[in-house]
Amino acid sequence: MSNPLLSIEDLSVEFRTEDGEIQAVDGVSLSVSEGETLAIVGESGSGKSVTALSILQLLDEAGRVSAGKIMFGGVDLVSLPVDEIRKIRGEQIAMIFQEPMSSLNPVLTIGRQVAEPIWLHRKESWKAAYEQAGTLLKNVSIPDATDRLNDYPHQFSGGMRQRVMIAMALACQPKLIIADEPTTALDVTVQAQILDLLKDLTKSLNSALILITHDLGVVARYADRVAVMYAGRVVEQATASNLYKSPRHPYTKGLMDSIPTLGGEPGVRLKTIEGQPADLGDLPLGCSFNPRCPYSHDACFSTKPPLEKITADHERACFGYE
Ligand code: ADP
Ligand code: MG
Repeated sequence: MSNPLLSIEDLSVEFRTEDGEIQAVDGVSLSVSEGETLAIVGESGSGKSVTALSILQLLDEAGRVSAGKIMFGGVDLVSLPVDEIRKIRGEQIAMIFQEPMSSLNPVLTIGRQVAEPIWLHRKESWKAAYEQAGTLLKNVSIPDATDRLNDYPHQFSGGMRQRVMIAMALACQPKLIIADEPTTALDVTVQAQILDLLKDLTKSLNSALILITHDLGVVARYADRVAVMYAGRVVEQATASNLYKSPRHPYTKGLMDSIPTLGGEPGVRLKTIEGQPADLGDLPLGCSFNPRCPYSHDACFSTKPPLEKITADHERACFGYE
């Protein structure tokens, strides 16, 4: 693998809550290279968004990075002063969130909102930025793009709004795009269109893409590498093809069994992973997955399994059951 563009090293994030401190992210290490798509997968609450928000110092006040580094272009983003992280946001690293309506301003036209970051970061004339906004909307396949610059967000469908968000994210040709459940609110067909588009555009810019999703089914087609998170930790990481061919963590296997297959027998219920998702305020000793794991044995109840290489490009955090 070439030198990573972004490398998260042993990141831990804590939140102050009414019930005391919780550790939402616990020693996560991840990296992504130019042109590569890394998917982060896991049930809701596993720490995916908190990891992503940490990259751009977007955690809310209750949260703080308590350990670790996030290296990007030779600097540690964790300790970067606010005015410098602002220059990186949008220009070098862009984020796309799940609900585009809340990220778009309802009272400003689409054209104005797409043109503004270009105008700000690129220091171009307003007219040039506005024209470029039209081109960007064309690139994300919005019909009659230039006419629609004068429309307001509510005049766009959910899928079209997410296209606008992608256009905005790509406006400054960022080196890294972080898409946090970008298609979760959309129907399946639109979901596939948006992800195809995101993948094509990032490839053409040779940008890196971090794609966050709770749906392991989604990532098969789009990711080069997959990191599976559970209770704030990476429990398995591998190339997408290895992960699908031979998942090696019981939690990943469980996720895999709950993916609906197109040719599946009608009337047969999907398997779900038994037990409750982890409660970060009350984690068991040892492996956090042990209450739900069909294979747990003594070691699993006393020690947290470290993430270890099992082959050249496959890691897992499990004491084994084979
Ligand atoms: P997901 O994997 O679904 O994106 P998150 O990263 O958003 O999960 O959240 C992980 C955990 O971090 C949550 O289950 C919650 O316990 C905690 N957390 C996230 N945001 C906050 C917050 N603003 N205040 C307190 N706790 C938070
Ligand atoms: Mg999330």
